[in-house]
This record gives sequence, C-alpha cells and structure tokens, in this order.
Amino acid sequence: MSTTLIPTDNVEAAARARAVIPGGVNSPVRAFGSVGGTPLSIVGAHGAYVRDVSGREYVDLVASWGPALLGHAHPGVVAAVQEAAARGLSFGASTPGETLLAEEVIGRLRVADASEIERLRLVSTGTEATMTAIRIARGATQRDLIVKFSGHYHGHSDGLLAESGSGVATLGLPGSAGVPADIAALTLVLPYNDRAAIAEAFALHGDRIAAVITEAAGANAGILLPEDGFNAFLAETAHAHGALLISDEVLTGFRVDPAGWWGLEHRAGASWTPDLVTFGKVIGGGMPLAGIGGRRDLMELLAPLGPVYQAGTLSGNPLAVAAGLATLRLADDAVYAHVDRAAAAVSRAAGEALDAAGVAHVVTHAGSLFSIAFRDRPVRDYDDARAQEGWRYRAFFHAMLDAGVSLPPSVFEAWFLTAAHDDEALEKILAALPKAAAAAASA
Ligand code: PMP
Repeated sequence: MSTTLIPTDNVEAAARARAVIPGGVNSPVRAFGSVGGTPLSIVGAHGAYVRDVSGREYVDLVASWGPALLGHAHPGVVAAVQEAAARGLSFGASTPGETLLAEEVIGRLRVADASEIERLRLVSTGTEATMTAIRIARGATQRDLIVKFSGHYHGHSDGLLAESGSGVATLGLPGSAGVPADIAALTLVLPYNDRAAIAEAFALHGDRIAAVITEAAGANAGILLPEDGFNAFLAETAHAHGALLISDEVLTGFRVDPAGWWGLEHRAGASWTPDLVTFGKVIGGGMPLAGIGGRRDLMELLAPLGPVYQAGTLSGNPLAVAAGLATLRLADDAVYAHVDRAAAAVSRAAGEALDAAGVAHVVTHAGSLFSIAFRDRPVRDYDDARAQEGWRYRAFFHAMLDAGVSLPPSVFEAWFLTAAHDDEALEKILAALPKAAAAAASA
C-alpha cells in the first residue's frame, strides 16, 4: 500500500524507495555502494547547497554529477524553463530553440578556427550520444570494432560497459551481465595513456577498427589525465588507419572551458581535432539533454539525410533546450574563472589537510575537475586508480557529510565546483577537511 506522505528522514526514505525501486535508486552511484551508510534523499537545492528530506543542508560538491555549472536552481535558468513550460512541454516537432542551442554549441567550439564540428544532433542522455556516435562511426567506415579505454565511462550501452568507470568501477564490476558476448567482442579495451598498446591494436586490427572512443580527459575512475599529446596521438593513429576519433565530452564539455576539454587543449596550442564529439550534463543545464557533434559529412549520414538511423520522441525537448541554452549563455568567462579558482582552493586545502594528517594521496586535476586518490604515486590509468587505499575515502566522505559537505559518494568520481560556491560555502568545505583527513588517516 502506498502512502502519499513524504518521509522526513533519509533512513525511512531509503527503505521506502528500496521497496519499490531496485536498490532504492534510479542510477547505481547514488546508492552509496562503496562508502556505505544511508544515501541522501534530496528534496531541493539552491546555489551551492542541497537539502535532504530531514531539512538538513549540505554544501554540494556533486552538482548533479556536473550539470549544475552555475549552481543549483539559477534564477535565469529556472525562469527560462518556466517560460518554456508555460508554452508547452513537448511538441514532437522542431523548435527554434534547438537551432539556437546548436548555434551556441557550434559557435563555442570555433576556437582558433580549428573546429570541424559543423552539425549537432540533440538526444536526451550521454548514453544515447555515445551510442549514436559509435553508430555513425560504424556507418561511415563500414567497420565494426571499437577501441575504448579501461576506466573510461561512456554510458551504459552494451558495447561500452567493459572495464568501465563510474558506477561500474565503484561496484568493482568487470562489465555487465546481459551484454551478449558477440557484442562485447567488438570492443577492444586498452589501458589509458599507453601508446604502445594502441599502436599494437591498430597494427593487428587497424582495418577493422571503426573508431577510438575516449573521454577527452578521463573523469570516471577519478581523474585520469591524458598525457601531453595523447589525444593528438589518438587522432593521428586513428586517422592513419581510416578510423575515427570520438571525443566524449559528456562530462568535460562546457565545464572545464567554454569549449570543453578540446578548447582547453587548443588554447594551450594543441591542434588535433576529433571527428565526433559527444556532450551531456552542462549542455542541458540539469535537464535531460545531450548531443553529438561532428563534421558535416559524418553527421549527415544520420537519418533523414543518410542511412544511419537515430531518433527520439523527446529529443530536443523544449524545457531541456531552454535550460541548456540559458545555462550556456550565462556561463561566461567570469563563471569559468570562478569555478577554476574555487576548485583550486578546495583541492589545495584538501591536499594540505591530508598532508597534515599524514595520509598518502595524490590530487589529479583536469582543468577545474579534480579527484583525490589515496596512494603516493601519480595515477596514469585505471590500474593505478584501483591500486589505492580506496577504503580511506569511506571515512573521509562520512566525516565531510557529518560536517555538512556532500562529496561524490565514490573515490572514483570527480569533485564538482560551481559558480555558486561563494566564500561562505568554500569556508564550510575548508573547515570540514582537517577532521575528514584525520578520519581517513585512522581508517
Ligand atoms: N560519457 C561520460 C564521459 C560520462 O561521464 C557519462 C555520465 N557520467 C556518460 C557518458 C553517460 O551519460 P548519461 O549518464 O547521461 O547517460
């Protein structure tokens, strides 16, 4: 029997949820699987804060796993969504807003005139975006194999779950049941940042590889930073063998730079170009929206122009487009500068607190994204990320939560700052760190 009353504590909320929702969650990382304890049941959020069912507020470093670049419930974004909602929730037809959003995205990617991203198709999730990018690559090359990197996460489509990051890493799974062996066999999983392994894979299978898909900067097994020139090497190697490079910017896109990770590398002098790019999270400002961008010749392989089929009843949903467009328009240089400064302050303070407590750790940055690994050597790939004293994070995480700071509930996730993390919010985080570091030390 259901009751309409909303629970007023997290334990009761989780118990009620578990009775009707598998594991009580609609996405596994929310379940506190590796940190233990009761997951938060959130009823609201504003700026840098989230509020749970008990009414307790936390400084939030999850930011909805990335989208909330401006902070939660930014008035400009909320107003845009309200206006759109008043005009109708969904039409199943094209809207002018979709074009405005595509123009905004393509315009942002024109860094130093190097962008070859000429068309954008909107979908609703990052999973759909990467799935579609791969279908385009296979359609374009008439080849079947895909190369992905261990510890990278590209959503939960069949071919991309092997040695995946994010919740698959958090739960310590090698992949997923339910993926046919024949499909898994079409994905070659390689260690990240390992040029020899990539050269070898192409030497052996080069004429069968449709694409390399890579996170522009790895951020789903903690941060796995591409070594200098690594993305350029991927582009060169793929292109030398007639394969495509798909740069997955679902997480990094419009978060680390106005033009994503690619923009960041280009401003620093890099000159590689992906054939296809996937976006999610910030592009939808917190609403379900994602996209695939690419060169015109590739993107026009999509139906209705070409033979590669892709569709969506709610694709380009007007509320999601309104949220995404408002978010991108509000995300000016000052926003990125603020997020960079806030991330630098928090990561430095976390490192200092762990140093003071004598906890071996390494902080890895990918622009304003960062993560902490509990080991004393740099993290270059997924094996390194797994070879850490990950259990220390459990104590660290709960000490922060007790002090009113909500961190991502897994050591394999990045910490997300927003434009709304003002001095007050940052001070709360900084004040909580020494005790959390001490808890990690004695874990
Ligand atoms: N790619 C990357 C790099 C991601 O980080 C994610 C989600 N964390 C996805 C794809 C999948 O996006 P979604 O959860 O919207 O399906």
